[in-house]
Amino acid sequence: MIIHAYGAHAADQPLVPLQISRRTPGAHDVQIDIAFCGVCHSDLHQARGEWAGTHYPCVPGHEIVGRVSALGASVSGLRVGDLVGVGCIVDSCRHCADCAEDLENYCDGMVGTYNFPTTDTPGHTLGGYSQRIVVDAHYVLRIRHGEAQLAAVAPLLCAGITTWSPLRRWNIGPGKKVGIVGIGGLGHMGIKLARALGAHVVAFTTSESKREAARQLGADDVVVTRNPQEMLAHLRSFDLILNTVAAPHDLDALLVLLKRDACMTLVGAPASAHPSPDVFNLITKRRAISGSMIGGIRETQEMLDFCAEHGIVADIELITAGQINQAFERMLAGDVQYRFVIDNATLAS
Ligand code: NAP
Ligand code: ZN
Ligand code: ZN
Repeated sequence: MIIHAYGAHAADQPLVPLQISRRTPGAHDVQIDIAFCGVCHSDLHQARGEWAGTHYPCVPGHEIVGRVSALGASVSGLRVGDLVGVGCIVDSCRHCADCAEDLENYCDGMVGTYNFPTTDTPGHTLGGYSQRIVVDAHYVLRIRHGEAQLAAVAPLLCAGITTWSPLRRWNIGPGKKVGIVGIGGLGHMGIKLARALGAHVVAFTTSESKREAARQLGADDVVVTRNPQEMLAHLRSFDLILNTVAAPHDLDALLVLLKRDACMTLVGAPASAHPSPDVFNLITKRRAISGSMIGGIRETQEMLDFCAEHGIVADIELITAGQINQAFERMLAGDVQYRFVIDNATLAS
């Protein structure tokens, strides 16, 4: 089946309209007509070859929502017409210790939604900047939000789960003080989720212009990181700092804000390394730095259900497929509140 998509032919080329093929659904597959797809900063890193190993053509997109349009004979629990989502994972080995613990995101055999090896044409997976996708039912998420919210649900499939997973891992809830660094697609979801979990939330931003907006997202306090006095007011006070920044920066200025035994979790994935942190900022208070990558399928469903129950969606700007290159530039400039979402109906025009 041939469908319309948008993708890049090379790292230094803009995204252009493409035609791609999708497999005929097998017995365990779900075919999804994609309604909307969020634009993650990872899409930009990958399409522009900023991380090693991009395969071209590169069709990004792993914040996918849409409707089931066909089902394999062995699929149960889903019907044609159901609202569903696909995040960053479309397959995994299914028998390793990580898969057994529903942490497919850490499986060595994980197949990402784009740029991972597959037997489908053209030999690597192609993502959600496309009209349709065919995915094994195990990796398809149920969406319980109303249809009117569908576009704003899309970013939960990556930005939502990538912030939810470490918040849950570090038992964030009432009585905990959490810092969210970088108020972009991930960071704005981090604020909403940490707040809904009951934590005291402090937003860290380089952008004076986001001060008020971050409060409206649910931050109890906002620190503009360029102002040392504002930073020092929070010395040794955080239980967790969740760092979503997409560029190398000074980690020490944040580490010293952690309490004893507290952790800064890095989820931002810059193309080049951060300057090394000063080890004294770790050993003197037994602090830790950790990383976290998206989340497993089970916890993604838990996050989606929590968001449906609490009325949480992303703040989005809806764009046409033809606006994607401009959206990449605006995302780099921090000029989006807070996530671009493609209206995939515009791929056909
Ligand atoms: P985004 O929407 O572009 O937001 C990133 C934010 O980081 C910006 O809004 C800005 O916030 C801050 N920032 C950007 N450049 C900066 C700089 N030079 N110095 C300090 N702050 C800067 O990106 P996103 O989609 O949220 O993704 C963020 C990062 O997470 C990307 O590297 C992405 O690839 C990665 N990611 C990782 C995972 C994972 O599983 N670990 C999943 C998804 C994405 P302020 O204006 O508030 O400072
Ligand atoms: Zn992403
Ligand atoms: Zn596995």
